[in-house]
Amino acid sequence: MTDIANTCDLLLTGGLILTLDDAHSLLKDGAIAIADRKIVDIGASESVCARWSAKTTIDARGRLVMPGLVNVHNHTPLMITRGMIEDIGLAPMFTPGIPQGHWLTEEDAYALSCLGLFEMLRNGCTTVVDFYRYPMALARAASELGIRAVVAGRVHDADPAGLSQGRYDYKTKIGERSLRENAALIERWDGHDGGRLRCDWAPHAPDTCSDDLLREVKKLVDAHGGNVHTHLSQLPGEVAAVQARSGLTPPQLLDTLGLLDEKLIAAHCLHLEGDDIALCGRSKMTVAYAPIGNAKGGRIAPIMELRDAGARIALCTDTFSGDMIEAMRWGLSMQRIDRQGSVLEARTMVDWATRGGAAALGMDETIGSLEIGKRADIVMLDDRSPRLTPMIDGYGVLVHSAVGNDVDTVIVDGRIVVEGGRLASADGDAIVARAQATASALWRRAGRDPIR
Ligand SMILES: [Zn+2]
Repeated sequence: MTDIANTCDLLLTGGLILTLDDAHSLLKDGAIAIADRKIVDIGASESVCARWSAKTTIDARGRLVMPGLVNVHNHTPLMITRGMIEDIGLAPMFTPGIPQGHWLTEEDAYALSCLGLFEMLRNGCTTVVDFYRYPMALARAASELGIRAVVAGRVHDADPAGLSQGRYDYKTKIGERSLRENAALIERWDGHDGGRLRCDWAPHAPDTCSDDLLREVKKLVDAHGGNVHTHLSQLPGEVAAVQARSGLTPPQLLDTLGLLDEKLIAAHCLHLEGDDIALCGRSKMTVAYAPIGNAKGGRIAPIMELRDAGARIALCTDTFSGDMIEAMRWGLSMQRIDRQGSVLEARTMVDWATRGGAAALGMDETIGSLEIGKRADIVMLDDRSPRLTPMIDGYGVLVHSAVGNDVDTVIVDGRIVVEGGRLASADGDAIVARAQATASALWRRAGRDPIR
């Protein structure tokens, strides 16, 4: 018997492990030792178990073990429009007759954020970029539910009341308030819980932010660090408004203001004109590929062209789903439809949903793969599920067949937050009931008669 020299907090044994390391190593009977929130050992079960004794051991036999999924663009309070907006309009702020973001109270935002984060954790997402109004509520929900999050407030100065009527009224007071709100967020939450929460800047879009406001954001980002999160070339109206205002396309405008660079994570990139793709590629920006949202608007983003031009690609759900596995499958299928052929492999989608997101967020030393020294953000799927059979290379069945509901256990920062498919960090039933009550009240205000 080997002497066990080390004690760890958590030991996973007997799993089929997709490490997503540089060599994409696979361990057929693997174990992971976790201590102080980090992976301290990974390898064959026999040898890892010989080196470590654990306070808690998880039997991972019959489980596909992989890094947690990274969702690089989302707005949890917009869960309020799910299941309705898809058939009514596009972004809520441009759509009359539905609950508007400016109707929400901070407690409404908190209730909806808990719902969104619960759904994401349940489906294997361990890191999310979440930005909207009331970012303090978003950060509080992320702190309590145990997800890793990059949180930001929605910075803009176009008056939302005018936007739903198609008017751009830029108001300095609105811009200043959103900047103040984000500064307070950073002061309160940036670096919370050993860095599990980070706070960034998120100017909403080139049309809903004036040039002056975008210049101010650029200064603040340069001083603070982190990423800039935005929507880019999402809607024809945005492109037209920016053209009318500046004579530039949205990417050209961001480039002129010094915001189009490797720190930028921009969702959508659908309506790109002329040389925009080359410009985005040269900048090394990250495209937050949002296939489910894009499809519901009837569009496919030119992801392969953007990647070939040099842009980095990461994956997101943009609130239309909490299931990053679903987003991987949609993302792959839509590019195949667009290019009429097999332009993407399942493994690339898994890379974008893990390593790609981590790299975009500057967290590639911390998360995105299962390696010694990285934070223990780990997902386990039940590979005895019919949907995960036959298991041949691991990646194919994950992208083409699995669903988020196959996720059994989720660990974030070394803490078990989903166990046996149930939320372990909070009362999931209470979260769902509170979110339904919140949503029903807001839809009643919009003139609907919710069935619950
Ligand atoms: Zn968005």
